[in-house]
Amino acid sequence: MYDIQKIREDFPILSRTVYDKPLVYFDNGATTQKPRLVVDSLVDEYYSVNANVHRGVHYLSQQATELHEASRETVREFINAGSINEIIFTRGTTESINLLVSSFGEEFMEEGDEVIVSVMEHHSNIVPWQLLAARKGIAIKVIPMNDKGELLLDEYEKLFSERTKIVSVTHVSNVLGTVNPVKAMIATAHAHGVPLLVDAAQSIPHMKVDVQELDADFLVFSGHKVYGPTGVGVLYGKEEWLDRLPPYQGGGEMIQHVSFEKTVFNELPFKFEAGTPDYIGTTGLAKALDYITALGLDQIAAYEHELTVYATQRLKEIPGMRIFGEAAEKGAVISFLVGDIHHFDMGTLLDRLGIAVRTGHHCAQPLMQRLGIEGTVRASLALYNTKEEIDALIAGIERVNKMF
Ligand code: PMP
Repeated sequence: MYDIQKIREDFPILSRTVYDKPLVYFDNGATTQKPRLVVDSLVDEYYSVNANVHRGVHYLSQQATELHEASRETVREFINAGSINEIIFTRGTTESINLLVSSFGEEFMEEGDEVIVSVMEHHSNIVPWQLLAARKGIAIKVIPMNDKGELLLDEYEKLFSERTKIVSVTHVSNVLGTVNPVKAMIATAHAHGVPLLVDAAQSIPHMKVDVQELDADFLVFSGHKVYGPTGVGVLYGKEEWLDRLPPYQGGGEMIQHVSFEKTVFNELPFKFEAGTPDYIGTTGLAKALDYITALGLDQIAAYEHELTVYATQRLKEIPGMRIFGEAAEKGAVISFLVGDIHHFDMGTLLDRLGIAVRTGHHCAQPLMQRLGIEGTVRASLALYNTKEEIDALIAGIERVNKMF
């Protein structure tokens, strides 16, 4: 039973008002709201367990370390990784990608080598590769899409060459909602002898993601987009790859022994975790993952799908409505423009009605160029949204429409 009212009560912020209107929060693709048990866990740990991890023989340090390492196990189980050595804690998707690009690029890429990305990537899966291109002279190849927002898999195949070293693609587009067929894309990459990085920032909160089932080599996501705290994220990597990669940052925690002559790095996963980790944040992330596991990812996916279908159908009834992204496999993200109303005006006016949507290029400017637009209005849904909120959005858009 998916008891939406009970679920909403778990998220205190949902009962606040904005400009004296009930808050309608549709900016979940940017960040999700937090259930009480996640925030409580942060407060509780600061008040009763706080001590630096992995360092102290004292009681609190050991307890904090146990909580932190238990969170790693929760993440491992959540994505079905083979070992906790494959779970690296980072600050978020962006840092996870930068880590991988830096280490992988350092070890495995030379001038003239190539990475394949897609046209619908977030800037965080473009700019790190461009920085590597500037440093090392690698080339970036781009998988195109059709007008529905589906990647062209035949074109993808053709992009592989002797120089292809890695593929890096988003699982779900944060603009179009397209769910890319990453399992098949991974198989194609493997047939060409190269690994694939999945940017799962927009899939982890909405569907079951199993790294072994996908056979993903690397997979990254952010805690704050999956009902967890800000400042914590994950890089999953197959142990056989992570073992061969050099560290990203140097410092405490990532070493076994340091002398001025020679330093021996720590083993996995600590080799990639220099400095004090956000051990309070990792506990919060584990609580968030436990929360959605208890609700059931299949139930969440089914509920969000129903909402998305309803929202899409109602939006399409609005005169002048243009929806961007109509892939056969589509997640809970709807990008749109109405007539020639600027996305910024639409977003600002909806905000006055208490409705939070995203406007702009959504950190995907190359995709905007492909679509021939500057930006969109984006409603991205979460497990706590309701049909009534969608009705409020529709009424809001109709009101703005009349004003113009
Ligand atoms: N990739 C995708 C697909 C995203 O949607 C986002 C966030 N909008 C990111 C990467 C970056 O995530 P973060 O800002 O949490 O590092």
